[in-house]
Amino acid sequence: MHEIAALSDAEAIEITERYGAHNYHPLHVNLVRADGVYAWDGSGKRYLDCIGSYSAVANGHLSPFIIGVIRQQMEKITLTSRAVYTSELALFLKEVCEFTNMDMACPMNTGAEAVETAIKFARKWAYTVKGVPADRAEIITADGNFHGRTTTIIGFSTEAQYKEHFGPFTPGFLSVPFGDLAAVEAAITPNTAAILLEPIQAEGGIIFPPDGFMADLRKLCDRHRVLLIWDEIQTGFCRTGKRFAWEHEDARPDLMCLGKALGGGIMPVSAVVGSREVISVFKPGDHGSTFGGNPLAAVVAIAAMREMTKLDLAGASARQGAKLKQALIDLNHPAVVDVRGRGLLVGLEVHEDTDTKRLTEAFLNEGILTKETRSHTFRFAPPLTIDDQELDAAIGAISRALKVCG
Ligand SMILES: *Cc1c(COP(=O)(O)O)cnc(C)c1O
Repeated sequence: MHEIAALSDAEAIEITERYGAHNYHPLHVNLVRADGVYAWDGSGKRYLDCIGSYSAVANGHLSPFIIGVIRQQMEKITLTSRAVYTSELALFLKEVCEFTNMDMACPMNTGAEAVETAIKFARKWAYTVKGVPADRAEIITADGNFHGRTTTIIGFSTEAQYKEHFGPFTPGFLSVPFGDLAAVEAAITPNTAAILLEPIQAEGGIIFPPDGFMADLRKLCDRHRVLLIWDEIQTGFCRTGKRFAWEHEDARPDLMCLGKALGGGIMPVSAVVGSREVISVFKPGDHGSTFGGNPLAAVVAIAAMREMTKLDLAGASARQGAKLKQALIDLNHPAVVDVRGRGLLVGLEVHEDTDTKRLTEAFLNEGILTKETRSHTFRFAPPLTIDDQELDAAIGAISRALKVCG
């Protein structure tokens, strides 16, 4: 055994803060091991992981099936490049298209890269198919969006801290209020290439558009010949109780950004999937990635998707999510102002006077890992494999933690 990481919890925290850029403010927890829905710190304290790596852990930590597939693949081949073909990539492309019911796919690594890739697809489609004049393509986004952290993507964020001191920004984007169909329509011009939205704004505080918005947006895009791009990086792969959140309204996109759970809770795997008309605009040399579509990533993603289907994680997410949401509503706690959710993506919004730092600590004491997204909303996004007993234990622990709010 070549054990690399063997520090005390305190040492790990101290060294990270000394040598690491301070672009995160982590909970004071040092995890050393995880299995299923649980993770443990160095003292042996067990936590139920309700952060779920921001929804990247859908199949549970260390899914035995996915780990088995990885072990086998490690004996064969792990990294080539797109200069050659592999059967792993071939099967990944076929299965991700079948899983999403789309025509073609472009593999990448991180979510932000998938979004950047979708932007390139949309722009090239606008110039070469729709006939938008050179360098005039526009993409409509929504206030409160989160699509990643690259310089182009933060340029159309409406969150001040994501942008401050990082300009100048890429032109060609405009933002409208989330879920406002009339505002989208008013923003469309002959140069509009695409509308890029999250079906549910997860980082933005678990914000839902009005019922019917997604389906109406699909029709609006058809009327104006504008591409509909869903960023399903966080909401996709069964998180909201369907395979993809747009399926709740049959608002089929032209392009869809995938990431997070596609990597089986193990490694970064992302992709853009879409219609043949749009994905076909890329020619050799237009785009690429050294690690994108590598054999190891490909089999991890295939294993993750096969397991989601086999275990019916969409059904499980719908069932357990409904139970969690109802239980949180039934707590009827005075500090709770709203409970929002679909499937196992649930937000618990507490009153703005609540001491959220103290509440976070109370959750940790009760063995619940959760963190607030923007403004007083705690996110509960456990692995979709959570069973009845584990869920009941979580509900009990959440209820006990809330006692610190009086
Ligand atoms: C996490 C996330 C991204 C960015 O993914 P990274 O892998 O962190 O680059 C993009 N869009 C949404 C909706 C996300 O939740």
